Amino acid sequence: MQHEGNNAKAPRRSKKGEYAPHDDHGDTIEPGLQVPNSSLDSCGKSFVAADGNRIKTPGDHFSDTGVIAAVCRHDHVIVYASMWTPGEQQFYAFTLIDAVMAELPEHWRVGILYDIGCQIHHSALKWDLLPQWMPHIIFAISVFHVYGHQWVCQLWYHPRKGDVWGLMDGEGCECLWSDLRHLIPNLCVSGYHCQLFILDLQIEHLDDVKLSQAGIWLERCVKSMMECLFLAQQKRSAIIYSDEYLRAQFEEQ
Ligand SMILES: [Zn+2]
Repeated sequence: MQHEGNNAKAPRRSKKGEYAPHDDHGDTIEPGLQVPNSSLDSCGKSFVAADGNRIKTPGDHFSDTGVIAAVCRHDHVIVYASMWTPGEQQFYAFTLIDAVMAELPEHWRVGILYDIGCQIHHSALKWDLLPQWMPHIIFAISVFHVYGHQWVCQLWYHPRKGDVWGLMDGEGCECLWSDLRHLIPNLCVSGYHCQLFILDLQIEHLDDVKLSQAGIWLERCVKSMMECLFLAQQKRSAIIYSDEYLRAQFEEQ
């Protein structure tokens, strides 16, 4: 695999799902992953969320330093938790995943979009975390964040590169933070239980509002999908190559 102008070393060519322990540069690809360790390391260093030691909120001033949430395909909050460490540690994400998966039928396949999906996937396999859920989970990276990842990482974790994500962007949490941010000035000086109570009320209210507007949301999604389909068909008609050739090129990435 050749790529110019990227920090990542090119991994040994391998087909999807094939375990390639070493590439020509001595880089390694862990079993179950398709991205070489050098790329994962670079991704880990370039993201604040991946650095659990990065102090985002000083813990000595606040009992809770933030909120982490899992939202569904329709951007409704499924579960959220208080953070109490100064940085964003990975165990928060694993806890939310465990809480969500425990409520779902065992045969479901669940896609998880996260800012640092590559790091979570790597950690889960490396430390054998959530082994009961891992066969049912597909990881990807939310679209606004994926361009900050290494090129090799984007090939495997960009939701537009997979065939299960549709037009999902995985940025529902950003909308949630936008809806909650007006509470920050007051909650900073509120007591612990008061904080939880207000957050609970506000999230319940947001879910009620979104549920009542679910039809509008669906209509917007269908319109967006139709526009994408129209543009894709226009571009496709201008390309002379066959579908088979283009699919083969896509797989070759
Ligand atoms: Zn990455």
